[in-house]
Amino acid sequence: MPRYRPIHASNFERSGVWSRLDEEQREAIQVVAQVLPFRSNEYVVEQLIDWRRVPDDPMFQLTFGQPGMLDEADYLQMRDLWRNRAEAAVVRRAADAIRRRLNPQPGGQVESNVPRLEGRSLPGLQHKYRQTVLFFPAKGQTCHAYCTYCFRWAQFVDLPDMRFAAPQSDDLVAYLEAHPEVTDVLITGGDPLIMSSAVLRRYLEPLLSDRLAHVRNIRLGTKSLAFWPQRFVSDGDADDLLRLCDEVVARGRHLAVMAHYSHPLELSTPVARRAVQRLRQSGAEVRLQAPVVRHVNDDSAVWAELWSTAVALGIVPYYLFVERDTGPKRYFEMPLARAFEICRHARRQVSGLARSARGPVMSAHPGKVRILGIEEVAGERVFVLDFLQARDDAWVGRPFFARFDADATWFDELQPAFGEERFFFQAGPGAGLRIRALPPILATSI
Ligand SMILES: *Cc1c(COP(=O)(O)O)cnc(C)c1O
Ligand code: SF4
Repeated sequence: MPRYRPIHASNFERSGVWSRLDEEQREAIQVVAQVLPFRSNEYVVEQLIDWRRVPDDPMFQLTFGQPGMLDEADYLQMRDLWRNRAEAAVVRRAADAIRRRLNPQPGGQVESNVPRLEGRSLPGLQHKYRQTVLFFPAKGQTCHAYCTYCFRWAQFVDLPDMRFAAPQSDDLVAYLEAHPEVTDVLITGGDPLIMSSAVLRRYLEPLLSDRLAHVRNIRLGTKSLAFWPQRFVSDGDADDLLRLCDEVVARGRHLAVMAHYSHPLELSTPVARRAVQRLRQSGAEVRLQAPVVRHVNDDSAVWAELWSTAVALGIVPYYLFVERDTGPKRYFEMPLARAFEICRHARRQVSGLARSARGPVMSAHPGKVRILGIEEVAGERVFVLDFLQARDDAWVGRPFFARFDADATWFDELQPAFGEERFFFQAGPGAGLRIRALPPILATSI
């Protein structure tokens, strides 16, 4: 039975990866790992990475640090500390200074989304969109491997005040009892499926009580299906996990596994396919989402193959995200216009069943903003956008326009089109006048 074996900074030199890399690549991985968390594992290394294609191989790029992930000056500084075998405290101080410049908490997650109950704020919960509460169980805050583009990276290095996690589910249950409008709980991390099935059961069972009948959908956000599919097939408690899924479904809840797949390679091995099959047999639905990033999946053919392979396995394509404004963003980012073209061309290549993927989507402070198109309207080139989710749900589904910007890579770089001062959802005199002035039929059918 294959055993899970992580590869990280402290065992890297003894791993099977070391002998496959040249001197320069080894050093780069160690230098970057001083700042950004690094973890891969033997399954990824032996079965997903094609070593003849390294360093360009997408799975190598996905889990191993690359020199371009730090600004040149930062890289050189960390390289000197590495070469001079600087003291741990010195390395740490330099690394923390760089980390703080990498926007460790994007989207105002901590300030704006942590809910309160009877005057107390509840760590480990986020409630941003009316129907869905996010829950971060303390024991699920790591992953079987770390994506180099991860927007949760700050949780994996202990920057003080950057971690948020709940020790148990009491607060979650109390909060949900007080909030009958919540229909979905999304258990996330890190990766909740890093937890043993017994621990996961302690978190899930309280959600199945009759008092929480309004919580109809339980979602598990995970990358285990890609990074360690043995979790569902051959791990000691794989069968317990599937039984637990089965019970959730038998109690009348929808169990949605929100699977993070970045590349069709992750669906190519027999164990990866078996994992999906077993999960679906338990009654869970599997949905697929990932960001589009350079060096990994910035190609419409890759997305078309990912979506159509997924559909053939019974997985529903869900979101295609734009990489968030955090961590080594510069290494992975691309203009929004390019992300849109990749998504559009991928969609053209697949049947309607695989066109259920919505995107490209930016999870930004006001909500989840989708790029619907790039068009010329009233003589101006514009991005046509809408909210799929919003802090105020009245904003959802109202197309709005931003001035086209060929270089913009994130929502906050966009300006309103047509010379307006604000977008309709931004407070201020005259906000939203243009859209509100349209007859309702037009406002919804553009
Ligand atoms: C994406 C997201 C959700 C879930 O949104 P759905 O559109 O229902 O999948 C919930 N909360 C937050 C904070 C999110 O970013
Ligand atoms: S699986 Fe998700 S949380 Fe874990 S490293 Fe990757 S992006 Fe981050």
